[in-house]
Amino acid sequence: MTIEHNVDSSQLTTFRTRGAVAEQLYHLETVDDVVEFARYVAPQRRQWLVLGGGSNMLLVHSVECAARVEITDRRIIEETASRVILRLGAGLHWHSCVEWAVANGWAGIEAMALIPGTVGAAPIQNIGAYGQQLSDVCRWVEGVDVYSGRTVTLAAQDCHFGYRDSVFKRERKGNFIITAIGVELEKRTDARVAYDELARRLTTRDTVTISDIFETVVTLRRGKLPPDDIGSAGSFFKNPVVELHRAAQLAERYPDMPRYQQNGAVKLSAGWLIEQCGYKGIRRGDAGVYDRHALVLVNYGTARGEDILRLAAEIKAAVHERFGVELEEEVIIV
Ligand SMILES: Cc1cc2nc3c(=O)[nH]c(=O)nc-3n(C[C@H](O)[C@H](O)[C@H](O)COP(=O)(O)OP(=O)(O)OC[C@H]3O[C@@H](n4cnc5c(N)ncnc54)[C@H](O)[C@@H]3O)c2cc1C
Repeated sequence: MTIEHNVDSSQLTTFRTRGAVAEQLYHLETVDDVVEFARYVAPQRRQWLVLGGGSNMLLVHSVECAARVEITDRRIIEETASRVILRLGAGLHWHSCVEWAVANGWAGIEAMALIPGTVGAAPIQNIGAYGQQLSDVCRWVEGVDVYSGRTVTLAAQDCHFGYRDSVFKRERKGNFIITAIGVELEKRTDARVAYDELARRLTTRDTVTISDIFETVVTLRRGKLPPDDIGSAGSFFKNPVVELHRAAQLAERYPDMPRYQQNGAVKLSAGWLIEQCGYKGIRRGDAGVYDRHALVLVNYGTARGEDILRLAAEIKAAVHERFGVELEEEVIIV
């Protein structure tokens, strides 16, 4: 375990906002390091947090203590003629695991290419994109319970995965440090296209492979998301889910409004709502809304955490006033 001191927030998150520091940053390279941190370091600190790649986090205030899990082993645990079960260390880059799977013809995560961040953070908000989500393939999550200092394996059903949600945002928030996950993938190269935008791009092909999906997603994402020199955390808000009758009222007034049926409710497009309020591409100093994607708030250089937070509050108020819909942050505000 190594420790760095006074690390600036611009180096801790992909938003690269300024004005906050982590007084100590612990690098945890083994499960023993995580156990030691949970037993002897975390209980002594007023405040501590676990950080992955910082791609879903906005640091507004300084933190006394942060820890990064840097366990990067990956292996095949079980293999049959049709399936493979993988154990992936929490410190691996998620995208490198997607590349590994696609290269070996293991299907199930190819549409989640280029989601930034680490494997350890993937279960927290049940990452997902283009019709796939982690909960489709996740079999278990391993970690250290900070109260007992013991290693624990949670079966997928105990993770209570939902849309950008899991037990790690609720009962196990701030008291469980993930060290590895288990995923089960299918051995097949033909792909099921579960997302309209992908299907439209791939209509000319007779058969679609998981490599086709992977490459199409990479191209689509590169066209939509800000380049690396602009700070962001991807989608800042979740897509709001409203009751059927509320969606019907809105659809009457706004017939073009995108809406998707979901388990007896309706999911709306947060990006569309924000765009309708005139926020796409606006800028308040160095805090702004990306001009190609209204759901992505950006830092053009020197924005501080509170500048982004102020802009987010302004957007939430505008969407609420016009549509009566409450936006909820997807990004974790610290
Ligand atoms: C350009 C861009 C595009 C994105 N696109 C998508 C997308 O399509 N779909 C999607 O779902 N997300 C997307 N995201 C969000 C982000 O990539 C995911 O939420 C990702 O899982 C965050 O990983 P991270 O390692 O950066 O986590 P961080 O941002 O560092 O942390 C996120 C949360 O996880 C916790 N955490 C991290 N590691 C651990 C651990 N080992 N144990 C316990 N808790 C931990 C942190 O405490 C924090 O609460 C995008 C982000 C960006 C910047």
